[in-house]
Amino acid sequence: MPADIVVLGGGVGGALTANLLSKRLPSGSARIRVLDETGVHVYQPGFLYVALDQANAGWLSRDLRSLLRDDVELLIDRAVRIDVENGAVHLEREGALHYDFLVVTTGAQPDWDGVPGLRQATHNFYSLIGAERLREALRTFDGGSLVVGVAGMPYKCPPAPVEFAFMVDDYLRRRKVRDRTRIRFLSPINRAFTIESASKLVQPLMEKRGIELETFVNVETVDPDKRRLTSLEGETFDFDLAVLVPPHVGATVVRDSGLGDPGGWLPTDPATLQLKSSDRVFAIGDATDLPISKSGSTAHFEAPVVVEQVVAAIEGRAPNPAKSRYRGKVTCFLETGRRQATILVFDYDHPPKPPRPSFIWHVAKWLFNRVYWLTVPRGRI
Ligand SMILES: Cc1cc2nc3c(=O)[nH]c(=O)nc-3n(C[C@H](O)[C@H](O)[C@H](O)COP(=O)(O)OP(=O)(O)OC[C@H]3O[C@@H](n4cnc5c(N)ncnc54)[C@H](O)[C@@H]3O)c2cc1C
Repeated sequence: MPADIVVLGGGVGGALTANLLSKRLPSGSARIRVLDETGVHVYQPGFLYVALDQANAGWLSRDLRSLLRDDVELLIDRAVRIDVENGAVHLEREGALHYDFLVVTTGAQPDWDGVPGLRQATHNFYSLIGAERLREALRTFDGGSLVVGVAGMPYKCPPAPVEFAFMVDDYLRRRKVRDRTRIRFLSPINRAFTIESASKLVQPLMEKRGIELETFVNVETVDPDKRRLTSLEGETFDFDLAVLVPPHVGATVVRDSGLGDPGGWLPTDPATLQLKSSDRVFAIGDATDLPISKSGSTAHFEAPVVVEQVVAAIEGRAPNPAKSRYRGKVTCFLETGRRQATILVFDYDHPPKPPRPSFIWHVAKWLFNRVYWLTVPRGRI
């Protein structure tokens, strides 16, 4: 009997895991099914470029089927409950998928209502619609007070708001409205973002570009009429345009299945990536509770670890210790504006030591954006 493998979610982690499993498992040894509610794979890092008028939205989405190997089945439906005890994923339309192995890659979702007034009063680049609306707002922005930052933790891609601040500074200079714009960057913690060494690198650059860093700003409410933001710390910030990253929560299905912590994140073993409640269920990408960046890169390095364990179990052997332990590896580019970027490479034990921003890393990120569709989700790098 072939093993039944269900991959729940067809984003970065899901598409890659399914394709790697298909490459590694001999034909007939497993049935690999990807379950995704949209059937569309979205390259989320591209939202930034859409918002800043550097890319067209058509570039960011692909039919998920076109990214999966022929022997990977795709089901387009919404999972409504994961029944770990009976090894089944219940579907919205009808029925259930039974599995021998389940890989949950349902990602993280912005909680647009997590901060009162956020949805009504602010812009964002954390959804395609949000990025397109922001692009329109920026095209007609004629100067004033621009507030950029993070409205609540956790959120995916920690460097993205900082990248936006640098890139919008460039954008406004190009449009010749920077000299009449005050840019303030709001951070809920004591520095620009969670990674200390990277914050140390970017903060002097922010100062140089006239981007004012406001730390310990935990946004409590946003008043759409007054265009005023109030923090838990008791400060107020008036704005003409606010671009804020909402706090994120885990997927609804995780929360509805009673599997997540209060935020909806899956309790996951940091090395094996097995769910703490079942060794037949793995979680990767943004869905986990791991103390590491929620990023596509995380999912990219986690997928082979899960694949080795599933393949070993099907082949009836012990997993290769060198390939079946995740050590927290993440690699992310960080745009610093002026056509420069740096790179953050780190793991659980080694914080990043980002190199001085340069044109080379900016080009590397640009190239990565271009080759993404041919590489990462297909398991080619
Ligand atoms: C603006 C922005 C910039 C970013 N920049 C970078 C970057 O430079 N580098 C980087 O590494 N990362 C970046 N990221 C983060 C990266 O996009 C995510 O971390 C990555 O997509 C996570 O992959 P995932 O597979 O865990 O989840 P996702 O890619 O979000 O996929 C989740 C999938 O699960 C499906 N799903 C969810 N619930 C259900 C359900 N109930 N039933 C069926 N299907 C379901 C969804 O349809 C979706 O396809 C950025 C993100 C944003 C928003």
